[in-house]
Amino acid sequence: MLAEHSLSNLKGVGPKQLEKLHKLGLFVVQDLLFHLPLRYQDKTKITAIENALIGSEVLLEGEIFTQALTRGRRNSLLVKIQSPQGAFLTLRFFHFHYRQAQQFTRGKSLRVFGEVRSGPNGLEMVHPTYQFINPEEAPELETTLTPTYPTTEGLGQLSLLKLIQQAIVLLKQNPLEELLPQKLLQQLQLPDLNSALLTLHEPQPDDDLIKIKQFNHPAQQRLIVEELICQQAGLQLLRQTEQKRYAPALPPSQAANALLASLPFALTHAQQSVLQEIQQDLALPHPMQRLVQGDVGSGKTVIAALAAIQSAEAGYQVAVMAPTEILAEQHLNAFLEWLEPLDIPVAWLNGRMKAAEKRYQLAQIESGEAKVVIGTHALFQDAVTFHQLGLVVIDEQHRFGVHQRLALHEKGQNQDHHPHQLVMTATPIPRTLAMTAYGDLDISIIDELPPGRKPIETAVLSNEKRSEVMEHLYVKCKQGIQAYWVCPLIEESELLHAQAAEVTATQFTDNWPDLRVGLVHGRLKGEQKALVMEAFKNHEIDLLVATTVIEVGVNVPNSSLMIIENAERLGLAQLHQLRGRVGRGDLQSHCVLLYQPPLSETGKARLNIMRDTTDGFRIAEEDLKIRGPGEILGTKQTGGLQFRIADLKRDSQWIPTAQEWAQQLVAENPQLVTALQARWVGNKVDYQHA
Ligand code: ADP
Ligand code: MG
Repeated sequence: MLAEHSLSNLKGVGPKQLEKLHKLGLFVVQDLLFHLPLRYQDKTKITAIENALIGSEVLLEGEIFTQALTRGRRNSLLVKIQSPQGAFLTLRFFHFHYRQAQQFTRGKSLRVFGEVRSGPNGLEMVHPTYQFINPEEAPELETTLTPTYPTTEGLGQLSLLKLIQQAIVLLKQNPLEELLPQKLLQQLQLPDLNSALLTLHEPQPDDDLIKIKQFNHPAQQRLIVEELICQQAGLQLLRQTEQKRYAPALPPSQAANALLASLPFALTHAQQSVLQEIQQDLALPHPMQRLVQGDVGSGKTVIAALAAIQSAEAGYQVAVMAPTEILAEQHLNAFLEWLEPLDIPVAWLNGRMKAAEKRYQLAQIESGEAKVVIGTHALFQDAVTFHQLGLVVIDEQHRFGVHQRLALHEKGQNQDHHPHQLVMTATPIPRTLAMTAYGDLDISIIDELPPGRKPIETAVLSNEKRSEVMEHLYVKCKQGIQAYWVCPLIEESELLHAQAAEVTATQFTDNWPDLRVGLVHGRLKGEQKALVMEAFKNHEIDLLVATTVIEVGVNVPNSSLMIIENAERLGLAQLHQLRGRVGRGDLQSHCVLLYQPPLSETGKARLNIMRDTTDGFRIAEEDLKIRGPGEILGTKQTGGLQFRIADLKRDSQWIPTAQEWAQQLVAENPQLVTALQARWVGNKVDYQHA
């Protein structure tokens, strides 16, 4: 069986090579077969130099015209070749031997393969592969595509290829077991496993080479579908395990109704239905695992508070975890306002508490005196012992990793009981991506904003307009509105961020001494930050100049103007989050995105999306198209989303199909799922349990 066949049995595999192969995640012969080409080189035809497109990888031929050594920052060898029609292309080598340079004499013919670029003197290729040819008797062309495999330092393409070829010989003798149901293959018109693998490692001349190059071939689709089914099935199993666990059943709460009755607003329909789903989940004796997605300002906090009350009234503690101190502070204020009248004691933890205060809070938590506990990730540190945790609320989930979510979940385990989990996020995630990243959670969506909110109007302006924008902001603030000015930088340095914000704040106070300007950035102590935020909330400050630390969740309804500098450097999701700080009250809000010209075409397209829509889901879909899932979810989230062949950006259309079939397999044929996991996940760590 190839699944047990060790790589060291192959020819040419010594301890050193073995180490490199392990680095690539390859342990057994079967792994080599699933190590698929990253791309393909097309050496089946000669492209004439005059037809070579910049950026394309082509095979071409020409006669050497000149050869020169240039000295500069880097010495280079330049070989200019000419086509029979008289077009030129320069080959550029940075690494070469003197003897090699001597071989390139005028009049000899070359066949070269590489990427065509535009150089200082027209078309060029940097370090192409080449061979000298006799144009009268040119060697035959390849008849099919040449695979290029992902590899690692110290393991050459050729050595890897030789190993894969040995694996293919073995595959032909011992075909792998087909794990996908025939019904599925027929329905989707996909080839069987063995022929798919052969097609991809050794494409034949009569295969659809264009589709293979585009990763659009049924052989590729077959493997993509199998891998996605495996991943979806894994999530469903995880979920089943969780559903078999026990959680305290928390009956509907009178106190929650009391809060609802006392609120100055009625819940939106979307809030009501999400609340209902949560209330029903909580009443069951198994842990709720629910993700609430709701755009910024859609009112998730009050939903979390109502869930917390249901747990507290039943005698079980609630942990509410926020990603930043500013946000934890804001939650604390909201919860105190809502829960104190109901006599539900609230405790909190933060990084800057005095030791005595912290001891007191910890004691309240451990004794069970405190029913609701609010804080940052400090909540799952060792010093914290919960009394009887019934519910964990995690706000702005995208800021935490899967590990942190699970760590808090485990911490709350009490004998055989697990707490319910409510996870909230304002980062709208396209549906297909959510199915993959959060497939172990039920998803509720608050797709409605409270009434009376006016969509934010957004303008995209060049930085040349900066002083006019500042002037306008001043006038508006004098009329009584409040504003944010966000200064992001690309440098990942808190210091530089802070300086940029300080410079801007000073520009304002120098120009308009009567403008009340506050400043927050990552280098301020939590206490100082909280003081500035408090002053801004109380309208003792007109303008808040900030770095992106204010990104998440901050809520000051009177602020209705947001300026974001260097907007072209931020992701769409982040811009959407930042912009969501305004548009929270009854005022018409405005957002100005300042960019540093010149703006690239995609840069322009991205900012135009921001100008044209405030719909977070549309923005997320566009963001996925432009940037791919890794950046939308953040690296923490995608730690477990590493695929061998599937690519969430390219292949998301297959996810719903994969989910459907995964459900069927989990229900009808769980041992098949185990086999799939052994094949695809194998020796890789299961992130869900890491
Ligand atoms: P987010 O979903 O971004 O966390 P918040 O929970 O901070 O949003 O809510 C934003 C503001 O809207 C808060 O001031 C909140 O009290 C208010 N709010 C929540 N629900 C409603 C509603 N149904 N009607 C009016 N205002 C609401
Ligand atoms: Mg919020």
